[in-house]
Amino acid sequence: MSEVRTRFAPSPTGFFHIGSARTALFNWLYARHVGGKFVLRIEDTDKERNTKEFLDVILESLRWLGMDWDEGPEVGGNFGPYFQSQRGEFYKEKVRELMDKGRAYEKDGAIWFRLEGERETVYDDFLKKEIERVHATPVVIDDVIRGRVERAEDRDFVIVRGNGEPVFHLVNVVDDIAMKITHVIRGEDHLSNTSKHIELYKAFGVEPPKFAHIPLILKTEGAGKMSKRDRGALIEEYRSRHFMPAAVRNFLCLLGWTPKDGREILPIEDIIEQFDLCDVHQANARFDERKMAFFNQEYLRALPDESFAWLAAPVLGEANVIDEKTNEDYIQRVLALCKPKAHALDTLPAFVNYFFTDEFPLDEKGYAKLCKKSDPVARCRELVPELEAAQDVAPATIDAIFEKLGAANGVKATDYFSPLRFAVSGQPGGPGLHEILELIGRERTLSRVKKFIEKMSK
Ligand code: GLU
Repeated sequence: MSEVRTRFAPSPTGFFHIGSARTALFNWLYARHVGGKFVLRIEDTDKERNTKEFLDVILESLRWLGMDWDEGPEVGGNFGPYFQSQRGEFYKEKVRELMDKGRAYEKDGAIWFRLEGERETVYDDFLKKEIERVHATPVVIDDVIRGRVERAEDRDFVIVRGNGEPVFHLVNVVDDIAMKITHVIRGEDHLSNTSKHIELYKAFGVEPPKFAHIPLILKTEGAGKMSKRDRGALIEEYRSRHFMPAAVRNFLCLLGWTPKDGREILPIEDIIEQFDLCDVHQANARFDERKMAFFNQEYLRALPDESFAWLAAPVLGEANVIDEKTNEDYIQRVLALCKPKAHALDTLPAFVNYFFTDEFPLDEKGYAKLCKKSDPVARCRELVPELEAAQDVAPATIDAIFEKLGAANGVKATDYFSPLRFAVSGQPGGPGLHEILELIGRERTLSRVKKFIEKMSK
């Protein structure tokens, strides 16, 4: 058992962002890698902006991504409460301690942290007033990822606002001390706060934890940072689009970290084994939506048929492609056939619709392309009497019909493939034609071919 304690400390003021999920994940991975503890602490001191709804989104999203926490909301622990809104007494006590030590003072209704160092009064051009500048000794941040960063604070800072609300810097440090956090793993945007935090640790007489500031996530294109408003930035979106959580999680792991063994798609157990904080990149990570979709597709296709059907059937039900009257066995066979070609669960209803209804749309673009090199209606007309005479639509039967018609009409046997595919599915691609025909059967094949001829000859 390791003494390592990491924490994820979200403020529930908005939906759960990809960047927050990645921060949580790196904390979780590191704790699991070393056999330490992963703590969830809710930083909800800003009463106006925190809501129960956003808290639920965070908890659900963490669970959805398979990140369990050892201490925190709903599971408890020895260092609670885990909501900052319930820790007011701790903060008061700690502020008192700082005041007693001469490291905090009241001014203009707020409570300020006093830096140590020589002071001088200077005119601040930006604030347009005289301020007191402090020549404090620079603090050294020995960041696990960024390396050595030196920074000096030069002004006292507020730790309790005029309205009595304690400020982020104070509560964050007080809780990390109280919860015995050994590693603070957070976004690089917090690096600029860390010198203040280290000053607080020093004032409390406590050795600071190790800091690891993880790189920013850039948008798919350009140099901009991913923001909450960007498309695809919310975990919620992937949940509602039925992405596989394991795929999303695997993808998030690679935003700033590369597995040592060269595989990009790998089981979480292997990631836990390989993940180490010191290997996290300094360079910014790029969020590539297409790559995320590709991961999801790979995960889907790797599922056993039963698991795929178990996930897919409710999605088809929601889209009204199937209902309780649809034959269970038929659903299973269709899904087993389509799994290797499926791109995503949210596009699956449109992809498999024709197995369950005769009313399916025709892919206009694909059809126009086919018409340039062949005469699909003529080919289908030739197919009708053969299909009428046939006993079944087994692969051997269909191949024999194609051979016979090809020879008789001076075209290639394969010229019947795409026209027949369009007639029965409306699509240029999909699973194997033979398999489709066997599933829908001779009757439906024939009636669809006839309907296709009728529609296209108008
Ligand atoms: N509540 C802060 C945030 O959401 C936590 C920062 C930290 O991890 O120290 O950014």
